[in-house]
Amino acid sequence: MTENKIVLPGDQVSTSEELLPGDGTFEEDGIIRASRVGTYVVDEKQRRAMIKPLTSIPVELRRGDIVLATVGSVRSSMVIADVIHVIGKNRSISGDTNGTLRVSEISNSYVRDPSTEFAPGDIIRAKVTQVKPSIQLATKDRDLGVIKAICTKCRHPLIYRGNILECNNCRNKENRKTANDYRNFDLDKL
Ligand SMILES: [Zn+2]
Repeated sequence: MTENKIVLPGDQVSTSEELLPGDGTFEEDGIIRASRVGTYVVDEKQRRAMIKPLTSIPVELRRGDIVLATVGSVRSSMVIADVIHVIGKNRSISGDTNGTLRVSEISNSYVRDPSTEFAPGDIIRAKVTQVKPSIQLATKDRDLGVIKAICTKCRHPLIYRGNILECNNCRNKENRKTANDYRNFDLDKL
């Protein structure tokens, strides 16, 4: 086993020419990507790419936790996001992980339509404002919001060019409510 770096869901870890997709990965158009937060590991014997969970003991979500979540659907008044990691807790999450981010909790500026700020597949850093009866999230603070966004047209990563987020593949320009460290997000801070 060769242990490598920590990865986020959607990150490219290898190609199907090099390796087989293993536990914690999926294959799409010849690219092997991570399907969870964890450490990228190659099983050299089986030639398999795998993502090892950060640890196996689950943690319960608490109000005030800062979490990472994957944006699922973006609706007219809210965003549905799946909580995938609690910052500072190297554990998986027990119980419900299905969070809701209401339009009024996205930004300190007025947001009319969540789809101008988030898109499905984005990874966001959010604060848990309620756990029961349902998980509620907020991204108002400067350090909260999108930490990794993919192009809605071709799914390549969006990178900042000046103050504009642009796809590094098709040059599509998009807007997001990004966290203030989007440009230099440090995976070691997980
Ligand atoms: Zn693109």
